[in-house]
Amino acid sequence: MRAIKVGVSALLGIAAIAAAQMGAATVANAEGVVNVYSMRQPFLVEPIFEKFTKETGIEVKTVFSKKGLLERLEQEGENSPADVIMTSSFGDTMRTVEMELTQPVENDILNAQIPAEFRAEDGRWFALTTRARILYVSKDRVEPGAISTYEDLADPKWKGRICTRSGTHPYNVQLVASMILHHGKDDAKAWLEGLKNNLARKPQGNDRAQIKAVSEGECDIALGNSYYMGKMLADEEQRVWAESVNLVFPNANDRGTHVNASGMGLAKGSPNRENALKLMEFLAGKTAQGIYAEANYEYPVHKDVAPSKLVQGWGALKRDSLPLEKVAANRNDAVKLVNEVGYNE
Ligand code: FE
Repeated sequence: MRAIKVGVSALLGIAAIAAAQMGAATVANAEGVVNVYSMRQPFLVEPIFEKFTKETGIEVKTVFSKKGLLERLEQEGENSPADVIMTSSFGDTMRTVEMELTQPVENDILNAQIPAEFRAEDGRWFALTTRARILYVSKDRVEPGAISTYEDLADPKWKGRICTRSGTHPYNVQLVASMILHHGKDDAKAWLEGLKNNLARKPQGNDRAQIKAVSEGECDIALGNSYYMGKMLADEEQRVWAESVNLVFPNANDRGTHVNASGMGLAKGSPNRENALKLMEFLAGKTAQGIYAEANYEYPVHKDVAPSKLVQGWGALKRDSLPLEKVAANRNDAVKLVNEVGYNE
């Protein structure tokens, strides 16, 4: 009996050495895999996945795509290998729920890490980070305090001085949806018409292109997500764009600034459920949340993880407290308004 025990442990010892010699991939296979479908970019999530694999031995296989990912999941149906779905904007997070691509999760660790307002009651989605939709205003041509709210964007005094990206981009759709909730459809439409009338040019380009336009004198006020300030400052070429503007967090003195959120959900047919939950816990945990804060200048949802020093320097974020789901529920109406006023024309 005793001899056999010694034999087994000796064999295990050999197996362990062999595994170590064959490297990390073998170890990962021993623990299994988790398949991620990600709308978030590789530069941001890959360093997080590397840390996760190091800690758990679980290999992360990722499909990256900004467009058509949810449709692909829908087509794959029950045969989908997807375990975790990661989204960039809250509208897409809502679509994963509406398309029934995710399943409910009841998990004490996630519930402890993510405040209730940043997750679905039934655990079909979890937010991971938030970002404010703010104003980038010319240091040279806009007096500090001259504009302080989203409503101000429709003031005729800014005629020909505002730049934004397409009105149907998810970031703007969510903002318009929040305006519908705060003001009702009619007033929101009047506001959007006013904003359209103030545009310096036809909506075009991404958020950063608007701030570039401010730096080049094409407009004086741009709408953009907060993290782009950090990203521009970190980029040799774009730094001058960032340095030409002041940041304004709209409605900071009343209802708060509109935020969007990135998120995740457990895929409906997740074949590697346990690994998926481990990854989701990791994404909401301190290490990953810290990477989101430092590498992409977003606001972590984890209450014990602070934004980066740079972001802290912008002051505490007063967030518009409308529930994310309520805002997202108005996004079809928002798209309609955008088209009705011919915003992109
Ligand atoms: Fe973005």
